[in-house]
Amino acid sequence: MRRAGVLMLLAVSMAALAQEPPGAQWRKIGDFANGPQLPAQTVVWCGKLIDGKGGPALGKTEIILESNRITRVRPVFPDFPAWSSDGQVELINLSTETCLPGLIDVHTHVLLQGDITAEDYDKQLLKWSPEYRTILGTQSARKALEYGFTTIRDLETEGAGYADVDIKKAINAGVIPGPRMQVATRALDVTGAYPLLGYAPNVPVPHGVQVCDGADGCRKAVREQIMYGADWIKVYSDRGYYIEPNPPAGISPAPMLNDIPTFTMDELRAMVDEAHRQRHKVASHATAYNGVHNSVEAGIDTIEHGDYISDADLKLMIQKGTYYVPTLYVGEYVAEGRAKAGAPVWLDMIKISADTFRRAVKAGVKIAFGTDAGGFDWNINPAVEFELRVKYGQTPAEALRSATVTASELLGMQKDIGTIEPGKLADIVAVKGDPLADITALEHVDFVMKGGVVYKKP
Ligand SMILES: [Zn+2]
Repeated sequence: MRRAGVLMLLAVSMAALAQEPPGAQWRKIGDFANGPQLPAQTVVWCGKLIDGKGGPALGKTEIILESNRITRVRPVFPDFPAWSSDGQVELINLSTETCLPGLIDVHTHVLLQGDITAEDYDKQLLKWSPEYRTILGTQSARKALEYGFTTIRDLETEGAGYADVDIKKAINAGVIPGPRMQVATRALDVTGAYPLLGYAPNVPVPHGVQVCDGADGCRKAVREQIMYGADWIKVYSDRGYYIEPNPPAGISPAPMLNDIPTFTMDELRAMVDEAHRQRHKVASHATAYNGVHNSVEAGIDTIEHGDYISDADLKLMIQKGTYYVPTLYVGEYVAEGRAKAGAPVWLDMIKISADTFRRAVKAGVKIAFGTDAGGFDWNINPAVEFELRVKYGQTPAEALRSATVTASELLGMQKDIGTIEPGKLADIVAVKGDPLADITALEHVDFVMKGGVVYKKP
């Protein structure tokens, strides 16, 4: 590959630039049998670039990749230089698109296919084998990648055992397409708190989590999950949500969303201690007052959902550096169905969670992008969450940052992903239009590259 001279560069018309130079071809999409084969060098032309470092969108930019990493990011003026190829370099022409860092969703369930009601959930555990669910899970992973999510944190398998570890393994081995994954395996909850529930005592049914009781029992469960491949420990810290008619004095704001806490403080602390001792982090499903408060006190790393967080707990989260992963879309998605099934509190929770989100943005809590995809149908693009975040108080730039830089920090992967700059893995997506002007542009990602490999093109 040779770079053409400057004079030649100026002589090249835009019409010619729209065509790829001879020898440059799109990599074969979906050819995973022998793992991805990358050219020595790749050049990506972007009409605009949002590099994720916090500044405004840049104009025409050229990104140079060597193998799976970015080596150079260079503004181009007035037009893209001409390239002639000897087959060693591939040119990817996105000159009519806006490029941005691969998106990150830190709360997914690839092994779940939507569960508005208990029946939807029970069916998946009782009538679908773990093998069938894993096949569907590989499909969910591919969908996530094609939506533009190049990295996900999958927060438990909902009764499908350690299948997430295997899906991650198959993706990393190049057997199937999918995002880079951190996985939580089975998650933990106490006896009697997590579905399947409501069956006769003499009928043994599977559980959506690993059940553990007592500090020692739960510590052992953490050890077991880490032994079998958990990157994260996921705990369920509350259940049974209701609007509290008589909130304890000093807890603001009203209305207070109350709950039944699951684990004791002893149990929570033991699990956090064991996970941290083994250099793993803990995510806590915490929807209402006690779940959030106990989790933050116990030192967990991320609050999932957090539909109600008291003002005092928001402050504590800032002090402790706890991440908040709200899931606004799924709340709206399930509310009506759950209300019809006898739990109208889910309708109230839409307003309460929007208010919590607004207060958290104002207070300056670290907010990461998670969606609970799988809690809703994988045929819905999880990027619909962005619009609600902007509706309830983030700027489009803040919303995008939550799904790039902040999410990469939550995962401890900020050296590799989250921005487009030299040294990072080449996770690049592109959209038509400007997501900083209209965030819903992120629902239409038409180019996806993960680690230098193209999985989708316009
Ligand atoms: Zn979830």
